Amino acid sequence: MVSDRIARACAAAGRPADEVTLVAVTKTYPASDVVLLAGLGVTDVGENRDQEAAPKAEQARAAGAAPRWHFIGQLQRNKARSVVRYADVVESVDSVRLAEALDRAAADRAEPLEVLVQVSIDGDPSRGGAAGDDLWRVSDSVAAAGHLRLGGVMAVAPMDWAPDRAFEQLRELSQRLVATHPGATTISAGMSGDLEAAVRHGATHVRIGTSLLGMRNPLR
Ligand SMILES: *Cc1c(COP(=O)(O)O)cnc(C)c1O
Repeated sequence: MVSDRIARACAAAGRPADEVTLVAVTKTYPASDVVLLAGLGVTDVGENRDQEAAPKAEQARAAGAAPRWHFIGQLQRNKARSVVRYADVVESVDSVRLAEALDRAAADRAEPLEVLVQVSIDGDPSRGGAAGDDLWRVSDSVAAAGHLRLGGVMAVAPMDWAPDRAFEQLRELSQRLVATHPGATTISAGMSGDLEAAVRHGATHVRIGTSLLGMRNPLR
């Protein structure tokens, strides 16, 4: 069970288990699975494609499930208007232009949209994420935006890095961010393969798909 794994990882790290939130990654799985997970007490779900997530959030809501929706995939600016309608958190903001598009799109929301700045830990931007000084530029623009709230950072460990090394660096970047933006304490790190390392290095959110729902069809 994933919740046991998270609890054990927290105990090993000397952290209370309620410091780490499970984000169930439901991409490729239907709305009925979101409803099922919500019934089991899952409070947060993650999706990476707007065209899949938008109808799924609508169907889940119609069936009475209202988890917090985290958008975790690369996002094109022309999808900002759609995403702000159902997302509670956008975890994958890595440019000032995307932050500005989300801010404009979020103007009609009752609550500001929570945003995490996605970090490219190895500086390779091909899979998304801001690196170097871009990270601070993007963070400052989110913090200054009237309809966004800067929540913290998100990252995926680079394939060829030891997860401990990757998440240790992420925590250092998070500490630098919190020094100037004290509310930005979220660290979204850790997936099915590396959640223990992420929890050791301070993750507040782990994004788990495979270990919870099984292997996804690789063709989708
Ligand atoms: C798919 C995905 C996950 C979940 O990965 P698993 O290995 O299935 O747990 C986490 N984060 C992001 C950004 C993803 O795209």
